[in-house]
Amino acid sequence: TIHARGIRKSFGYKTVLQNIDLDVASGEVCCIIGPSGSGKSTLLRCINGLETVDSGVLKVNGEDFGYYETDAAYHALSPKKLAAQRTRIGMVFQQFNLFPNMTAQENVMSGPVLVKGTDKKQAAKRAQELLASVGLGAFGDRYPAQLSGGQQQRVAIARSLAMDPEIMLFDEPTSALDPEKVGEVLAVMQDLARKGMTMVVVTHEMGFAREVSDTLLFMDEGVIVERGAPREVLASPKEPRTQAFLKQVL
Ligand code: ATP
Ligand code: MG
Repeated sequence: TIHARGIRKSFGYKTVLQNIDLDVASGEVCCIIGPSGSGKSTLLRCINGLETVDSGVLKVNGEDFGYYETDAAYHALSPKKLAAQRTRIGMVFQQFNLFPNMTAQENVMSGPVLVKGTDKKQAAKRAQELLASVGLGAFGDRYPAQLSGGQQQRVAIARSLAMDPEIMLFDEPTSALDPEKVGEVLAVMQDLARKGMTMVVVTHEMGFAREVSDTLLFMDEGVIVERGAPREVLASPKEPRTQAFLKQVL
């Protein structure tokens, strides 16, 4: 679960997130759309502790996350606690970020073995199952360079899942793919949603947003301008900024 109230984040003098309220319940899928520079990636990075928020309340999986500031109180998580929290959140990026010198299976095993100390044999077995679940059961011994972009991204998803995250965050996971590879990655994500994974997905894929998300958010200039059921937001946006954006992308 994610619970955010009044989140604010600046880089220098530039305010990148303002007054962000967000609730994502267990098993829910939230999609975020919005123009370049609107703060979508920064919001995801705050949720998984890659960035700290300047103020506001941010609880992820029931625990205060990163920095948490009220008028007077200011707490920081210890690096150890932060690291432990971060293992509960999976993140998939536009660039797949696989380890190039490891096979697909070794990539998927790496988190459990290195971070959790899982037995190698057991981790390999689980990696194989996860690769099969993303349609890559026969590709475990391939290196990233021997895989298509869509296949690499599916390995990246399997690698995140190997840590048994409670939440999965996706930052434009299909934007770097050739058009014909987009569907296979979206299908894996849809399958994950169907199995009840809690997900926040930044995407330009409006069809996916409409079919899979429970809530759709439109962000612009660091604020959530509009939110609602995806069909409603896409078919009849209320805010002029949402209307203008959708006119460009639909
Ligand atoms: P895109 O669709 O292009 O990925 P975005 O909505 O994900 O855009 P962000 O990457 O969150 O936008 O960036 C929001 C704003 O914050 C931008 O103006 C960006 O230049 C700025 N920004 C992001 N990260 C940093 C940083 N580490 N230091 C300074 N400014 C940053
Ligand atoms: Mg971004």
